[in-house]
Amino acid sequence: MFDKVLIANRGEIAMRVVRACREMGIKTVAVHSTADANAMHVRMADESVCIGPPAAKDSYNNIPALIAACEITNANAIHPGYGFLSENARFAEIVTAHNITFIGPTAEHIRIMGDKVEAKRTAKMLGIPVVPGSDGAVLEADAIAVAAEIGYPVLIKAASGGGGRGMKVVQHEGELLSQLSLAKNEAKSAFGDDTVYMEKYLSTPRHIEVQVLCDMHGTALHLGERDCSLQRRHQKVLEEATSPALNESQRSEIGTIVANAMLKLGYIGVGTVEFLYENGEFYFIEMNTRLQVEHPITEMITGLDLVREQIRVANGAPLGLTQADIEFRGHAIECRVNAENAVTFKPSPGLIRNWHVPGGLGVRVDSAAYAGYSIPPYYDSLIGKLIVHGRNRTECLMRLRRSLDEFVVDGVDTTIPLFQRLMLEPDFQNGDYHIHWLEEFLARTAPA
Ligand code: ADP
Repeated sequence: MFDKVLIANRGEIAMRVVRACREMGIKTVAVHSTADANAMHVRMADESVCIGPPAAKDSYNNIPALIAACEITNANAIHPGYGFLSENARFAEIVTAHNITFIGPTAEHIRIMGDKVEAKRTAKMLGIPVVPGSDGAVLEADAIAVAAEIGYPVLIKAASGGGGRGMKVVQHEGELLSQLSLAKNEAKSAFGDDTVYMEKYLSTPRHIEVQVLCDMHGTALHLGERDCSLQRRHQKVLEEATSPALNESQRSEIGTIVANAMLKLGYIGVGTVEFLYENGEFYFIEMNTRLQVEHPITEMITGLDLVREQIRVANGAPLGLTQADIEFRGHAIECRVNAENAVTFKPSPGLIRNWHVPGGLGVRVDSAAYAGYSIPPYYDSLIGKLIVHGRNRTECLMRLRRSLDEFVVDGVDTTIPLFQRLMLEPDFQNGDYHIHWLEEFLARTAPA
């Protein structure tokens, strides 16, 4: 096993990796920017290296500084966490070229899935159902014919897109060409690439994603799905496993399709295949070739430590599990607690004066915050994840409600009151929601 792992990340996910390493007897190296010198992940790790000034491009995304940190500490492997360099194929290549193990899939798989047109083509070839749409990039001259064949409404998407940017919904042919040129301009300025493609626009789908876990010895497992339909501005807010919309046979059917596709691809490590789900049909949208923020809910219902498995398979170990060993027990929900105003969503960095987390049976909080910690303004606003498990969804909701009431954060605004409001909504209680539901709820309940 690796002797020492460097964690190229910060916050709760750096803590998460330190915890897995510690249980495995692996030493850890934290890296941090000058703004994070007092961060908890730095204190938790065995060693730490300052890699640059606050701006992520000069620190957490600074490849030479990370490689140098590995070399001076003799770390044998790098765990990238999520965000930052976790889906940067070039980084994976450079790490490997320095004889350091990148804890993740191959650079080639990261590259394929990072290009949305290429990812969709690959998914289709592997037998994964995709959203009907153009076969690759759409040129202006063909746009009208392509859209007519797909059928309106259509969605124009940027091939190099991300974070929901560069997308345009087109309702009818009359607005197609003007929206196409808007989308191209937006894509060009946001991603430096004006390649766009077209898809059927689904009106009220759910976002359902399948977790996979694969080793280098021909085992590819699916760990069930997560329902991430509660989104604001295409950002996930609350996730549940299993999805309230799927039954056991639907779960097994889509899970098997995805696991077989990963086997064919030769994929290694953890990954998530994301779908939109409408009228009983799944439509691939993208694949994330890394650990995700919402991975703990899958851990809660399967009992597997995904980070430990990720480290083991990166080191060449066989999983030692078959699909029949994977059981889904009970229900789990994660709330992303952000340091943001729960009504305006304005970020609220600054000093946490008091911090008290809920506990008790089935309650887990993944966080790097503590009383006296000052949230820097430079990074994302996630300060903790409240993860709750119950024997069924009803028990999970009861436990979530009381956990939210126990959670105390003084000094900064958080999104906890939003979750408390959500708990009272019949649609949420019934699991009856789609990807636009949360924004509609926010608009409906906004204070005058
Ligand atoms: P990005 O990488 O920019 O986040 P995705 O392809 O993952 O782009 O899509 C982000 C979100 O946009 C999805 O979660 C969904 O809410 C919406 N979306 C994407 N494709 C479609 C589609 N064909 N129809 C309706 N909504 C879509």
